[in-house]
Amino acid sequence: MKAKPWVIGVLAAGLVFGGAAWAQNVKITPLGSHAGELCERDRATLFEDPTGVRILYDAGQSITGGDDPRLGDVHLVLLSHAHGDHMGDRKLKALDAGSCDKVDTISAAPHSTTAEVAAAKNSAIMMVAPMGAFIAKKIENIRGKPIGACPEKDGELNVPFAASCQANAQLGGTRTLKAPGATAGVEVTIVPASHDSTVSRELLTDPQKAGLAVDNTSLYLGPPSGYVIKFTNGLTVYMTGDTGIHAEMKTVVGDYHKANLVLLNYGSSAISAYSATFAMNELIKPAAVIATHVNERATNGGKLRPDSRTAALVKMQKRPVHLAISGRTMEFDGKANCVAGCQ
Ligand SMILES: [Zn+2]
Ligand SMILES: [Zn+2]
Repeated sequence: MKAKPWVIGVLAAGLVFGGAAWAQNVKITPLGSHAGELCERDRATLFEDPTGVRILYDAGQSITGGDDPRLGDVHLVLLSHAHGDHMGDRKLKALDAGSCDKVDTISAAPHSTTAEVAAAKNSAIMMVAPMGAFIAKKIENIRGKPIGACPEKDGELNVPFAASCQANAQLGGTRTLKAPGATAGVEVTIVPASHDSTVSRELLTDPQKAGLAVDNTSLYLGPPSGYVIKFTNGLTVYMTGDTGIHAEMKTVVGDYHKANLVLLNYGSSAISAYSATFAMNELIKPAAVIATHVNERATNGGKLRPDSRTAALVKMQKRPVHLAISGRTMEFDGKANCVAGCQ
């Protein structure tokens, strides 16, 4: 039977609206060591705005470096602090190398995975200024030429960039990235964390390394941070960075930015299940949480291990907690509802 023209019209309209609704989601893809699992080294997270702006947060040790086939385009590289598991003093030997609780890594010295990705992808870097200067030098060493400030137009950074560039800032600084033809930009703000930011000695030059080794110390690269990203669909994600509970979680992140999704770094050396729960329930009050940086094999066959520390944390929460399962793309609408890819 031949379809009547009005039937075709309704179907076409449905497709258009359906497509538009789908296109309004932010895609979040954890790039961990083992596909389909949440493992001890997992840190790197890729964000894609509906307009196409793509942001990598904390390249860390769970990617193979700038050549990791999962990366695709990366317009902006963020780094919360200088610790090796975030800057990437080591990198994954190969995808799925080793086991989920003992990942097989090789040295990423002298460059770091953060610098490798930014150099390979012509990305902007945005991090606190002293750490940004350190990473910029490494990108320069890879590319053989200095990297300048990112070109700005009307206060906005237009992606993609022709070459790696610096969009570094201080705590509280904001940058807006806009995709070609987009009417709105993605706003990225550096926010405080309560932690440390000492760089791995392995990433320093030999004379510096030798001098500091004598005293078993290294260099501090400015304050540690987290980020708040306001995507064009309204989703506002707070990436905690490594941090203890702190008062700015309420004033800066909750009251001011009104973050509705938290990417929580859970690590017992910085935050306990009790303090993380208090931060979510009393300080930030997001609609949902993504758990990452769990420093353990949290899943088995993609399912949460009931006897894991992560399971104990999840059990205490009042709101949905999504696990940062490697390679699984989660899609969030503007209100932080996970509309695809969550368990
Ligand atoms: Zn740390
Ligand atoms: Zn860490």
